[in-house]
Amino acid sequence: MAIRLGSPYFRTGADAQQSGLLDSYGRRATDMRLSLTDKCNLRCTYCMPAEGLQWLQKDQVLSREEIVRLVGIGVDLLGIRELRLTGGEPLVRADLVDIIADIRARHPELPVSLTTNGLGLDKKAQRLKDAGLTRINVSMDSLHPDTFAQLTRRPFLDRVLRGIEAAAAVGLGLVKINAVLMRGINDHEAPDLLEWAVSRGFELRFIEQMPLDADHGWTRDGMITAAEIRDRLSERFLLTPDPRNRDGAPAERWEVRRPEAPDVVLGTVGIIASVTEPFCSDCRRTRVTAEGKIMSCLFSREETDLRDLLRSGADDDAIAQRWQEAMWAKPKAHGMGHTGLGAPDFVQPDRSMSAIGG
Ligand code: SAM
Ligand code: SF4
Repeated sequence: MAIRLGSPYFRTGADAQQSGLLDSYGRRATDMRLSLTDKCNLRCTYCMPAEGLQWLQKDQVLSREEIVRLVGIGVDLLGIRELRLTGGEPLVRADLVDIIADIRARHPELPVSLTTNGLGLDKKAQRLKDAGLTRINVSMDSLHPDTFAQLTRRPFLDRVLRGIEAAAAVGLGLVKINAVLMRGINDHEAPDLLEWAVSRGFELRFIEQMPLDADHGWTRDGMITAAEIRDRLSERFLLTPDPRNRDGAPAERWEVRRPEAPDVVLGTVGIIASVTEPFCSDCRRTRVTAEGKIMSCLFSREETDLRDLLRSGADDDAIAQRWQEAMWAKPKAHGMGHTGLGAPDFVQPDRSMSAIGG
């Protein structure tokens, strides 16, 4: 059981590295998820409403310079060791390549990855690679054009597939594919998606659907659990726990083999069971929304603004300290309950996944 720490240990300057982004349960956030925009060109049913959302104004969103400065504070002062750029859809941001190039110039060793829906990736993959992007995750929930269009409300599967191919062709690390399964829509596709991914050398990750949709349509019965996903995959494949250390990663990974050829590892598959098998006690994430608010957890209802500080002439130490204070207050767990039935006091956050940065 987590023991609550007494008093916060905030330090400025070089000493801040020692305490880093520590929370009151002793976890230290080293993995920064930064949303570059709230806008998106798809309307995935589990994320956005059909009509879209009220987008932020341009001046409400962090600028390229502000983003690069915040990443610098995270890395140089607060022990951030890994950065993921997300959204909304990060590829709709015109200065994405420049942002990555700036970050890479300042932090040559920092792993920088991108989560994207893949639209337009075919045209940008090489520039992203040249700018210094380390790796990419592309979201794709179905191999069937009609099902893809039903889930995303847009008929663009072929464009996403072109984007994935381009990312692999330019050598953007191990390409990971994110898939959310929805009951009665694409859940039967789980083994086909895995077959497709391992045959191309991609790592597929299934994400349990979380109650973060703007339509508030999530139901416990509607969501496909990690246990169900394992069962479905096991109808075709042999899954054995990946011997590599999970090391704080959200996905539980499995080696994939065929029952008839158990000596050959075809690849690995990850299952992110945020609802039914939560991993809050090992969480290392700190989230920054597109408008510069720190969220210590996807399900947090507390937000700490850094944008005003950034724009008010505050120095890096002052910004680092506010970031530390926000993370110190990180809740012990998201409160959906181990059974996924939802603890009585669980309240769905006002923000949808796209507005937080998944
Ligand atoms: N637009 C990009 C994309 O779709 O990859 C990046 C942002 S999106 C919010 C990041 C990830 O969150 C995607 O893989 C998406 O499938 C996932 N996601 C969105 N809403 C979700 C939900 N309610 N439950 C689980 N995963 C969700
Ligand atoms: Fe857009 Fe990604 Fe949300 Fe789909 S999951 S609507 S692609 S932000």
